[in-house]
Amino acid sequence: MSGGDPVLVNVPLLDAVAEPPPHARVRALKKHLIGALRDLRVAKRPDKLIQTPTREPTGFTATVLAAGCATCQGHCCMGGGEHAYIDERTMARVRSDHPGLPEGAVIRLFLDRIAPLSYRASCLFHGPEGCTLGRGLRAELCNAYYCNGLRDFLKLGPVSGPVRIVAARDGRERRSPVLRPGEFNDPA
Ligand code: SF4
Ligand code: SF4
Repeated sequence: MSGGDPVLVNVPLLDAVAEPPPHARVRALKKHLIGALRDLRVAKRPDKLIQTPTREPTGFTATVLAAGCATCQGHCCMGGGEHAYIDERTMARVRSDHPGLPEGAVIRLFLDRIAPLSYRASCLFHGPEGCTLGRGLRAELCNAYYCNGLRDFLKLGPVSGPVRIVAARDGRERRSPVLRPGEFNDPA
């Protein structure tokens, strides 16, 4: 696919207020992380819990996907609450990536990455600049997830023409600049 009018990629739109993380929510996240580590401790084969990592997109595809999430501002992350989808499988990977790190330090790894401002009632790692957790600590579900609009874009295969993101919900709309392969595009 190439040239002409931009391909429109339709994604949801989040219009929420960012706030400092409430203490009660941080405590709930910490409790959840302790539980995930406990579940890992009692697992018979912790190594078997590690999920196959999702391949990171590259090139123009990565630009469009990043612009999609930046324009949407993270509608799907609202479900992350005080758990961020982290469970014993995530912990198995993190412990394998950081051998010898005590459990308290593993929890600290996560708590240190809580967004200074996150969208109200959303995942505590969901800041105005995106996810503050990073792929290495994220649940594999987060690393692998694309909403319907981004999945439809991926189904198109390699796109060599311009693309534009349209984020819309309840009559409100936000559009990205036109993204062109080979050009620097700031999706913000
Ligand atoms: S995957 Fe879709 S819903 Fe989630 S942040 Fe990106 S564009 Fe928004
Ligand atoms: S960990 Fe990151 S990607 Fe996952 S729900 Fe939270 S903000 Fe979204």
